[in-house]
Amino acid sequence: MAALTPSRPRVEGADAFTVGTAYGRALDDGRIECTVCPRACRLREGQRGLCFVRAREGDQIVLTSYGRSSGFCIDPIEKKPLNHFLPGTPVLSFGTAGCNLACRFCQNWDISKSREIDTLAAQAGPDQLAATAKRLGCKSIAFTYNDPTVFLEYASDCAAAAREAGLKAVAVSAGYINPAARQELYANMDAANIDLKGFTEAFYEKVAFASLRTVLDTLEYLVHETGVWTEITTLLIPGHNDSDAEIADECAWIAEHLGDGVPLHFTAFHPDFKMRDVPPTPPATLRRARSIALEAGLKYVYTGNVHDRVGQTTTCTCGEALIVRDWYRIDRYAVSDSGQCGSCGARVPGVFEGPAGDWGPKRQPIRIAAPSLR
Ligand code: SF4
Repeated sequence: MAALTPSRPRVEGADAFTVGTAYGRALDDGRIECTVCPRACRLREGQRGLCFVRAREGDQIVLTSYGRSSGFCIDPIEKKPLNHFLPGTPVLSFGTAGCNLACRFCQNWDISKSREIDTLAAQAGPDQLAATAKRLGCKSIAFTYNDPTVFLEYASDCAAAAREAGLKAVAVSAGYINPAARQELYANMDAANIDLKGFTEAFYEKVAFASLRTVLDTLEYLVHETGVWTEITTLLIPGHNDSDAEIADECAWIAEHLGDGVPLHFTAFHPDFKMRDVPPTPPATLRRARSIALEAGLKYVYTGNVHDRVGQTTTCTCGEALIVRDWYRIDRYAVSDSGQCGSCGARVPGVFEGPAGDWGPKRQPIRIAAPSLR
């Protein structure tokens, strides 16, 4: 049976899910600062960071959730959302616990805000995950539900194991991460969906307790300095980040700094966590945002979390409807196996390998046998 933590230093006296990390620096006052994200938690012995899964043990920062998960599921790749990456294929998806942001509108707060890592019932080592994904016909593994930034050592090892097995790896993240940690997290990733939560520093500070600039840096890094296929999601929250001006600013920045071929998804908010007093996003808001983005010159703009065939269709620059979707279901597919428009032959940006998958919209929870805890 494969070991749980094949390549990470174990921590003396700690459980099998705790590994040493390279992301800490000693301060003059005796504390150790975690250097994974700009939160820069400064910890004394035994303290945990804001994300709760990274902690101080002795003279280092450790990750306490290596190999643990809130559960494994097979999802459609469109659910990440990724519309230009192996369309129609199943992806083995999982998250752990904790998050390094503190969004008042969190849509996954039961996982991301969980402080009960002892109740993370599922466990799997990287090789075991990759082998399971392959056996079940998945084309990729996704780190999702909570942000892989906080469990980057585990995500990074799983991504390497996926590649080794001939699969791809996907990160779904808020992009709030420092450069060194970012480099390790994305070294073996093939695709990412980055949440761009709004487009003002004021929104990021007040509602997500983070900074917009860091996320923009991550986007520029991914698009210009790596081969990671990148799509962007903005959850539109009525009255908070959905003004015409803010949406126009975001789209203009994407067009200028990332290019007009980077797909952008506008998704619908539902009242949750500390924002239960805000109404759900009306479909008309998503359609308005999409129009603004198209006017700004972005070529691939989608609506999400609603039924909207027009807003979920990939259209070629020649006007041909190439991939017609209804939520996560593909109803028409007119892209060649190597990613070209079936009508004019233009290349569709993204990762297209062979025919579309036929996984459909279903979500299938799976169980993986507990690993060896050597
Ligand atoms: S990763 Fe966690 S512990 Fe490290 S700085 Fe960010 S929130 Fe703090």
